[in-house]
Amino acid sequence: MEQVGVVGAGTMGRGIAQAVALAGHRVILYDVDEGAVARAWAEIQGSLERGVARGKVDPEVAQAALERIRTTVSLPTAVEGADLAIEAAPERLELKQQIFQELDRLAPVQAILASNTSSLSIHALAGATQRPERVVGLHFFNPAHVMKLVEVVPTEDTLPEVLESCLAFVRGLGKTPVVCKDTPAFIVNRVARPFYGEAFRLLGEGAADVSTIDRLVESLGFRMGPFRLIDLIGCDVNFAVTQSVYHAYFQDPRYRPHPIQQRMVESGRLGRKTGRGFYTYRESA
Ligand code: NAD
Repeated sequence: MEQVGVVGAGTMGRGIAQAVALAGHRVILYDVDEGAVARAWAEIQGSLERGVARGKVDPEVAQAALERIRTTVSLPTAVEGADLAIEAAPERLELKQQIFQELDRLAPVQAILASNTSSLSIHALAGATQRPERVVGLHFFNPAHVMKLVEVVPTEDTLPEVLESCLAFVRGLGKTPVVCKDTPAFIVNRVARPFYGEAFRLLGEGAADVSTIDRLVESLGFRMGPFRLIDLIGCDVNFAVTQSVYHAYFQDPRYRPHPIQQRMVESGRLGRKTGRGFYTYRESA
């Protein structure tokens, strides 16, 4: 895996690009949106600088990682010569299927095509390609350059050697792979649905406010309460995953989204990335 194309330069794509470059691979980071590419580059640079300032990353290592990352708004450029492409575009099946069709057409025949989807079927993405045996899920967690766990999701068609290469790749990033079945939301997001769902119900009933619910959960040892975590993830991303899991289980009421989620998204309060979600993130706040 000398060269890796990352498709989508949002929250996850840029974290993945940083982790992959730090581990010594060349990365080409692609987005349809030129602004997103520029923001991603600035974020990666800032994050590496903070790492150096805190003594967590050697200055030479950070510099070398930055030199290994190229950005582009051309998909053919992103995957030309790639051994692996990791898709981190928005959580919409049709969009991801379209991207996988394009990746299949453009990437070298030996290249492995991976998706960072949180909840969509890897089989459905593999089915959009002519190389289902080289398609896997590689589900990183947020922030991707920090979190150790990566869910690795083969389909019924994934070749054993493709799975092995992906496991070795993830270990090489200094992360811990866990092999999952291709079931809706895999392991972590399946377990997390009631964590968020119950918090929304409490909030909706007026049982407690956002910060009280977060503080209660954090007092039990969780690093972040549900609302603080949703603000980090993005309310839109969290809502999309909730809807996708709900539909994947044929409207099982256990996974039903809450109207508060819809309201947050409709009002543009998406969390840290828009400066306001359940909390406010402006400088003066
Ligand atoms: P995001 O909205 O921050 O970024 C998505 C990026 O994709 C944007 O920059 C957008 O311009 C770009 N994009 C849109 N259409 C594209 C296309 N056709 N080709 C390439 N890029 C395109 O979203 P995110 O939070 O980075 O999530 C991306 C994926 O990662 C989703 O599948 C999500 O479920 C998954 N995920 C998210 C988190 C999280 O905490 N945010 C965690 C794990 C997995």
